[in-house]
Amino acid sequence: MRIMSIRDYMKNANLIFKGEFKRRPVTNGIVLHHAAASQATPQQIHEWHLKRGWIGAGYNVYVRKDGSVWELRPLWAVGAHAEGVNSESIGVCAEGMYHPSNSQPYDRGMPAAQLDALVKVIKDLLEEYPSIKWIKGHKEVPGAATACPGCYFPLEKIVMAATNSSNIGEVDYMKKGDRGPEVKRLQRLLMALGCQLPKYGTDGIFGAETEAAVNAFKKSVGLQQNGVVDIITMMAMAEKLLQDKTALEQENATLTNRVQILEDELKRELESGNEAAERYIKELEERNRRFIEFFKLLNQLAKEVEKRIWPIQKQAESVEKMW
Ligand SMILES: [Zn+2]
Repeated sequence: MRIMSIRDYMKNANLIFKGEFKRRPVTNGIVLHHAAASQATPQQIHEWHLKRGWIGAGYNVYVRKDGSVWELRPLWAVGAHAEGVNSESIGVCAEGMYHPSNSQPYDRGMPAAQLDALVKVIKDLLEEYPSIKWIKGHKEVPGAATACPGCYFPLEKIVMAATNSSNIGEVDYMKKGDRGPEVKRLQRLLMALGCQLPKYGTDGIFGAETEAAVNAFKKSVGLQQNGVVDIITMMAMAEKLLQDKTALEQENATLTNRVQILEDELKRELESGNEAAERYIKELEERNRRFIEFFKLLNQLAKEVEKRIWPIQKQAESVEKMW
């Protein structure tokens, strides 16, 4: 289980930009690039991009062949790396020229340190931005006329390693003694499902209290109470959350109506004040917080389930092929 964030190991290249950054409004994807230069420092990338008339280096993250990870533009800023998707994606560039060239040295393979670092960066970005839905090589971005990141760039290998089987050992199975963000989210899920964690709450540590709550949930859906959170448990949770979703939506609609009526009344008797309206408004605010939290959890869970089911299907397919 990972606890470290990309911010913990990403180095600051201390580049001086010639203008203001724009904050990226959404983060839907990651675009992978190569530097189109077998060797390049962050500063060199910056200078090349300044010469193009940009405010500076266009990528957010730069991964060198030695595996070092550099922040060029801040992670949160709109980059200049892939036309059409700059304001919804993070640009990650790898040092190297991973495409045949007549004019300069090129690389036919990626050093292991760099490959591992790229996989780690993507995994950690997925952790940091649960909204990410896609990972593409620059050439795969619709409308892009480029070979980037090049035919020798192990694109598929990197994307597979970052999103599929290599994650499985880390997150598909949780039990007492585990700790980290996955456990924290499990605890939030348990609470959303009405299980109580009175003493430790969402502390990110899978202790006796979390285990008891997991077993209580498993009992309620007829699963074996062995304290283990596996894919079957996660799917049962998703199913239960989807049932709750309809009820919660209905409740919210009713409450919104009640508040509307009371607010209209309140406008009429402005001076006297109206406790009931205040109470309902407070109730609605609380309900809205729960609502937002609930859908965030539901989205993350759906993503997790998808991530886990996919490699299992893949495995089943390869077994079939063996026959
Ligand atoms: Zn590119």
